[in-house]
Amino acid sequence: MTLHKNLIGGRDVPASDGAVLDVLSPADGQLFARIPSGTAEDIDAAVKAARAAFEGAWSKLTATERGRLLIKLAAAVEADADHLAALESRDNGKPLRQSRADVTALARYFEYYGTAADKLHGEVIPYLNTHFIGVERVPHGVTGHIIPWNYPMQIFGRSVGAALAGGNATVVKPAEDASLTILRIGALAREVGFPDGALNIVTGLGRTAGAALTAHPGIDFISFTGSPETGTMVQTAAAKNHVGVTLELGGKSAQVVFDDADLERALPSLVNAIIQNGGQTCSAGSRLLIQRGIFKDVVDAVAERFRTLRAGHPEREPDLGPMVNQAQQRRVEKYLERAKNEGLTVAAAGGIASDAPSGGYYVAPTFFAPVAHESVLSQEEVFGPVLVATPFDDEAEAIRLANGTAYGLAAGVWTRDAMRSTRVGRAMRVGQVFVNCYGAGGGVELPFGGFGRSGHGREKGFEGLVEFTTTRTLVIAHG
Ligand code: NDP
Repeated sequence: MTLHKNLIGGRDVPASDGAVLDVLSPADGQLFARIPSGTAEDIDAAVKAARAAFEGAWSKLTATERGRLLIKLAAAVEADADHLAALESRDNGKPLRQSRADVTALARYFEYYGTAADKLHGEVIPYLNTHFIGVERVPHGVTGHIIPWNYPMQIFGRSVGAALAGGNATVVKPAEDASLTILRIGALAREVGFPDGALNIVTGLGRTAGAALTAHPGIDFISFTGSPETGTMVQTAAAKNHVGVTLELGGKSAQVVFDDADLERALPSLVNAIIQNGGQTCSAGSRLLIQRGIFKDVVDAVAERFRTLRAGHPEREPDLGPMVNQAQQRRVEKYLERAKNEGLTVAAAGGIASDAPSGGYYVAPTFFAPVAHESVLSQEEVFGPVLVATPFDDEAEAIRLANGTAYGLAAGVWTRDAMRSTRVGRAMRVGQVFVNCYGAGGGVELPFGGFGRSGHGREKGFEGLVEFTTTRTLVIAHG
């Protein structure tokens, strides 16, 4: 069994008190690795190492040199793709093809931010004729990154990749349920020549290592992706140190299907948007809003597909893998029990593959229809393979329902009417709207983030690079 170590100041080190956490495979519940249970002292050492790098070797590099390192890291990730994908599927339970897609996106994030590093310009502002005003973009300093377990590699790429490109030195706390690929990326970063301390990784419990990181006075900016509840704690901790945060906190995203939609095109997306990663996706399309005239036909078609879905062992390329851990499995099962107790109609349910190991955290995908907009299942993020469908009569009602939750992360609109697609798309209070597609292309290049309970700030795309920098204005009197 592998015993992993933290990466602090370029060295592999155990937790300061030697404590470890067991790593269980979601596919069968078996112990297969151990990671350090990082302490507040480990976080402190990592922040100090990052500060030393920020004031030393790391800040001596030009933007081009930082970019070249990220591009080298992209190549190293690609060369290590099979290993990273297998590790992710074992650790997190996602089907191998999805882990491979995450590796591809990770490499692309490093390439994107590596090539963008020296293209982030400041500006010159016209002011008094006797003065020259230059505004330069500068890094925040030492950034803290709390990474969740659902897309560890992708979220590392978009968050840490952008922060490093912007010149920050970083401290990363991965989720205890998905730390292994993050530690592997740390090893690759060292191999390609990142200076010691530019990237530090401390694994451990959120309430210990995570809380210590977000409260540390040496952190200048925090990027958090996870639950709204933890997001509130992170933002509160950041406020005490007067530092900024980006929060990406999930969603209850709607796919709006109008009666002129190309259903053949829509149907695979309507199902896949909730099945991908077992529904443990912040931007999962977890609500279908369907125009009343086609409600029954669309529900029947989605139900037909749902009945064939099977949750199974990640290495056997199932439709979906197990939930990440037992707590997440229980959480989804509780939502299902509650919905059934409330008398919601199950339109269709998939199953668990007959060869899925008995100790794994599998949940059968379930589709409820019709479901009232006010019901718990329509309002709360389940973070599992649970889909609901609600009918609507006209455009105004569709917009009201789509925007009618506390969240605001993503939306899908399916219609052949070009004017309506723009009108409805622009009425969505979300960070990303997809018209006649959903989540197309993964979106390394596309700004991403939410409104309301989905959080604030933007990651991904060039916007993400800007987010990990701030400005310094130079006012020079010359006359
Ligand atoms: P959390 O928000 O608790 O976990 C996300 C990250 O925050 C993990 O790295 C976690 O570490 C860390 N963390 C936990 N507590 C603290 C803390 N006090 N201070 C700083 N960091 C902390 O989510 P859960 O894993 O508990 O999942 C619960 C629910 O959250 C899910 O069912 C889902 O609804 C939502 N979620 C949303 C995600 C998204 O992409 N928007 C991602 C993950 C979850 P550790 O794992 O070690 O506790």
